[in-house]
Amino acid sequence: MSNNHQTPSVKVYLVGAGPGDPELLTVKALRLMQQADVIVYDRLVSQPILDLIPHGTKKVYVGKATGKHHMGQDEINQLLVNLAKKNHFVVRLKGGDPFIFGRGSEEALFMIQHGVSFEYVPGITAASACSAYAGIPLTHRGIASSVRLITGRCRSDQTLDLNWDSLADPDTTLVFYMGLASLPQLRQQLIDAGLAGDTPAAAVENGTTDKQRRCISTLDKLADDIKAMNIQSPALMIIGKVVNFAEQLNWFQPQTDYEDAPQAAEQ
Ligand code: SAH
Repeated sequence: MSNNHQTPSVKVYLVGAGPGDPELLTVKALRLMQQADVIVYDRLVSQPILDLIPHGTKKVYVGKATGKHHMGQDEINQLLVNLAKKNHFVVRLKGGDPFIFGRGSEEALFMIQHGVSFEYVPGITAASACSAYAGIPLTHRGIASSVRLITGRCRSDQTLDLNWDSLADPDTTLVFYMGLASLPQLRQQLIDAGLAGDTPAAAVENGTTDKQRRCISTLDKLADDIKAMNIQSPALMIIGKVVNFAEQLNWFQPQTDYEDAPQAAEQ
């Protein structure tokens, strides 16, 4: 007998929406979005993906917006449980893959603790999608033999607590999520740990969407170049020799020439 299994209908579908391009949704994600009674989503779920939700499906936004009230994680957890227990078909839709820096596992644990079962649908995570759409392979034979996915987020006023010595490996591709604010700190730590300042480095803003912009630089200069381009969140940082492929493999041309568009106001 499987444990943790309640009435089959008392369930939440934890679904990854991928990085933004609606064509990168999985078939399963799209089917569940079409079947749901209610979809609880956050900021990284792109508008073209929300446009695929049928009219009449209830949508609940729980993401963060600067200066506005947003739901805390506890409230979101409770909301999901309450909706499921009302026998609604609940889809919890999150950007990328919910189990990669997405708190999906926290939500899943809460469901189980409160007698709600869950099903999980992985999504394409930003590391995979944004690098690919920026023409950067995460590994390449003879050049990068491993990849690290790292959070660049530190709790307010704290320093990033990472094992810098293990990260400063020229044969590893480093991918930083949520690293914009801490970039000066992480650059310094990596250089102090022995990674060369001229290691190729890139940032990808709004990856896979019509607004995608790339900043191709080096570890030393990335922070300044990002500033000059006014790169904003969401942005992913990739550090390692594979960034050298970005010019040759630059296959994706966003439809909008965003670089000529007015810059978004600084948040
Ligand atoms: N669960 C998500 C990550 C959430 S953390 C996933 O698997 O992709 C949020 C961070 O993801 C952002 O700060 C940014 O670093 C990265 N990110 C997500 N979508 C992105 C996109 N379309 N373009 C650039 N970065 C993105």
